[in-house]
Amino acid sequence: MREMKEMGFRGMILTYAAETVFDHSTQAQNGQGIAALKSENGDVSVEASVHCPSIEAWREGTVETIYMTEAEDYIAVKLTGAGANVTEAFTAGELPPQQMMDALHEVCTKAKDRKVRILIDAESQHFQKGISRVAVELMRKYNRDGYATIYNTYQAYLKNTPATLANHLALANEDGFTLGLKLVRGAYMATDERSLIHDTKEDTDNAYNMIAQGALTKNIGEFGDKGTRDFPSVNLFLASHNKESVVTAHELHKHRVMSGLPTVPVRFAQLHGMSDEVSFSLLQMNDGDGTPEVYKCSTWGGMGECLAYLLRRAIENRDAVLRTDNEYRALKKEVLRRVKSVLSLSPSS
Ligand SMILES: Cc1cc2nc3c(=O)[nH]c(=O)nc-3n(C[C@H](O)[C@H](O)[C@H](O)COP(=O)(O)OP(=O)(O)OC[C@H]3O[C@@H](n4cnc5c(N)ncnc54)[C@H](O)[C@@H]3O)c2cc1C
Repeated sequence: MREMKEMGFRGMILTYAAETVFDHSTQAQNGQGIAALKSENGDVSVEASVHCPSIEAWREGTVETIYMTEAEDYIAVKLTGAGANVTEAFTAGELPPQQMMDALHEVCTKAKDRKVRILIDAESQHFQKGISRVAVELMRKYNRDGYATIYNTYQAYLKNTPATLANHLALANEDGFTLGLKLVRGAYMATDERSLIHDTKEDTDNAYNMIAQGALTKNIGEFGDKGTRDFPSVNLFLASHNKESVVTAHELHKHRVMSGLPTVPVRFAQLHGMSDEVSFSLLQMNDGDGTPEVYKCSTWGGMGECLAYLLRRAIENRDAVLRTDNEYRALKKEVLRRVKSVLSLSPSS
């Protein structure tokens, strides 16, 4: 983490990998504590639900993560990592058991004391309604000092994300809290219900860029001076490996700051080990004012806990490899162009 900061990154995002993934095609949950907590007939045992060892393990792992970070770092939390009692509540769109809420308040308080911020990851659609409810509860309580300690994650690939976001902007407005808006495209295409996701990559790209640019210009739907409702306090966090999205967003933010136009604070992040070229291109755009603020996100856990994360990265790397190939071809073209121009200047030619 120290080396990353020495390279110019503003900080790190640390995430404990434990999670549960819901596979829409098989209707099965795969992950944390499912087998351990269920009896032979599939019920969750009463003893386990009163004091759940999976929730306790999640609490310990998450608190440990906070103590690995420094001020201005982030931790990212996957709430389904707390096991079956929690995912059952999320499946019903409800808040998790009190033990989990207590664990979350402990995590938020400890993080806030250390000036560390919390990104609540978006996960399988099946659990997302419950996860979002928790995120709003926590933002309402902890984001009251004019900045976000807690961020909710919005998956631009989902057709219903603009509606969810509008709902949360309204709540931030009415209840006077800062909305922590972490924007991703979405990583669960292989397991989520396809019809809920935009039909084409282009639609997802447009959705991502519209939300990012909408937040940066403080105009999303009916919120902002082009609409009828005030734009609430928002802190934006753009998590993406798409160079066009992040560079355009940074340029827009910079332009608005320099022109004295209204905008919101923005930070950027890429995953550790992926798209370093994008991270470094962003860092190179820093012309001395400390922006863009770029983070790297590192995931830790036992091999079993990290498998779902690694599998998603393997799928994503197919896109990344295509990009690498494009970059390689672009570089080769550039080298050829320069060689040709040198040769054409030589006296013998
Ligand atoms: C710091 C960080 C935190 C993250 N946290 C989360 C999180 O909490 N939850 C989460 O779900 N993801 C998360 N992600 C993963 C992120 O969603 C993926 O890295 C991202 O989807 C890859 O897209 P990209 O923005 O890098 O751009 P690109 O590589 O340009 O886009 C690829 C993405 O486009 C979308 N897509 C591809 N094909 C299609 C198609 N045919 N139709 C519609 N859409 C398509 C998919 O979302 C795919 O992943 C995080 C990523 C980072 C960097």
